[in-house]
Amino acid sequence: MVEMGKLLTEGKGKRVYATDDPGKAIVYFKDEAMAFHGLKRGRILGKGEVNNAVSRQFFQLLAKNGIENHYLEHLDNRQSLVRRVEIIPVAVKVRNRAAGSLAARCGFPVGEKMEPPVVEFCLKDDELDNPLVNTTHIRAMKLATSEELAQITQTALKVNDILTEYMKEINIEVIDFKLEFGRYEGRILVADEISPDTARFWDARTHEPLDIDRFRRDLGNVEQAYQELLHRMMGMDDAE
Ligand code: ADP
Ligand code: MG
Repeated sequence: MVEMGKLLTEGKGKRVYATDDPGKAIVYFKDEAMAFHGLKRGRILGKGEVNNAVSRQFFQLLAKNGIENHYLEHLDNRQSLVRRVEIIPVAVKVRNRAAGSLAARCGFPVGEKMEPPVVEFCLKDDELDNPLVNTTHIRAMKLATSEELAQITQTALKVNDILTEYMKEINIEVIDFKLEFGRYEGRILVADEISPDTARFWDARTHEPLDIDRFRRDLGNVEQAYQELLHRMMGMDDAE
């Protein structure tokens, strides 16, 4: 059993705690929700449990497909044991259809197909409103080398293929998602979370969002959408 240590960091959706093992951390998923750079705040009942379970499912799927990530063990409904990594402060987004800031910035109609998928990098800096940056900014800021960026981009696109194929089975289209990467013993792992807080998942038939956009855009049935996503993902496993 690992012992929970001091709080290392608390963000918008999670708390990360040290453990008695310097290479491991405990992630606790919260119900608090935030949008528009903290201007909109609220609570989505049961979200922490959904995100913990959904993230676990995705990280295990990635591991099965040879993509190294931080996930280690289920602890309880809201907590997972992970490798404690040094986070590279760059959010990596992969987009299969235009939505959110991409639609606003480039004038795409929401839902326009992106071929090839668009890969974006944003600085993880709340004070600067997480600005969009390119690989030369990242290299000039010494956040990652060009080799690391090539590996990160290739991994993000591979994750896209894996998630897209998996979600198709339960009639969900992966519109976009965000990854964070971390350094661990000289390697780069996928870290953080993959959840409806950090991705857009649309019902393939109706194009209804089953993600944080329901909260952002006051679409209603927020809790129900999180539960629906979880049930579809878990239902698929029962059938295997
Ligand atoms: P944010 O407000 O940046 O979205 P979150 O609440 O999502 O923050 O997560 C809290 C913090 O935990 C983030 O800074 C994230 O980068 C960090 N984190 C995620 N996974 C790990 C890990 N395996 N080791 C260390 N830190 C991590
Ligand atoms: Mg986050």
